[in-house]
Amino acid sequence: MQGKSYSFSCLICGNKDKYTPVQETILGDQKGEMIAVECGECAHTQLFPPQYDVAFYESDGQVNNVVKHYGTPQKTLFDHSFIEARRRRERFGDRGIRLSENMKLLDIGGGYGFFGGEMARSFPNAEITVLEPSQTRTEIGAVQMAENGIRPPQFQVGVLDQDFADRNRGVFDIVTMWHVLEHVPDPVGLLNLAMQIVKPDGALCVEVPNLHDDTIMLSEAFRNRSFMEEHVSYFSPATLRSTALRADRDAAVELYGYQRYGIFNYFHWIHFNKPQGASPDLFEGQDRFWLEAHWRTEKEHRLTSDALFMVMRHPA
Ligand SMILES: [Zn+2]
Repeated sequence: MQGKSYSFSCLICGNKDKYTPVQETILGDQKGEMIAVECGECAHTQLFPPQYDVAFYESDGQVNNVVKHYGTPQKTLFDHSFIEARRRRERFGDRGIRLSENMKLLDIGGGYGFFGGEMARSFPNAEITVLEPSQTRTEIGAVQMAENGIRPPQFQVGVLDQDFADRNRGVFDIVTMWHVLEHVPDPVGLLNLAMQIVKPDGALCVEVPNLHDDTIMLSEAFRNRSFMEEHVSYFSPATLRSTALRADRDAAVELYGYQRYGIFNYFHWIHFNKPQGASPDLFEGQDRFWLEAHWRTEKEHRLTSDALFMVMRHPA
């Protein structure tokens, strides 16, 4: 059972003594030996024992799990990925991040590369690179983009390690990590490396799921789906910020709420206490715009949105 043969160590602060269980069941944990705990020193929430398995990602395990648990067809996942990629591009402007025609952008853990493809399409003269550990994913992504008439970005199979950082010190205008940080065994180390490769006037943009999403409190089913074997860390606004400052104590850190899924999906979780099904609401329509806009703005303002978006910059 949990904890018997493992000793606790906080991924963020290294505390080995005090922790409090916050979730007893973890989605995908076949052996039933994982729980989620909050560190008694820094309040970071993480799996215990932590799990990180590169082979799982190489075989496209998380996407296969989404298909399995939600019945979402792969086609819908790809369609949603294109919507998500476009929104990510549009969001830079809202956050004062300057995009230029000849910028160098690196997307870390970019998966199929849809975001990279979206950026390459919008900025044909820019140098857009997707760094992704799974060769399988880059190959699937290249095929999908070709079928949709999108020119794929440059793919590089690998991870951001010290060697990569040494070879690319201060060269990127923008470095992005979309839903990557929650998967890795050393979030502080990864953010530190990412800041090393950002230009002096560049920006590191990080998005993660939000532990303070209010749906976690309002739907037990949603809560049970939120804690999963793929996610080693669960960031709140406060722990995401403190993790960033541990990685680079001089960095200027901005934190925003970002709501990915629509209000019908939210209602569905709360009212029926189960997922909306194969095609969750991402809200692309205009029919209920006023309601959606008000709800979304409020959720983001209160930092109870389903995701958090963080921008790190070098000090001026
Ligand atoms: Zn800690």
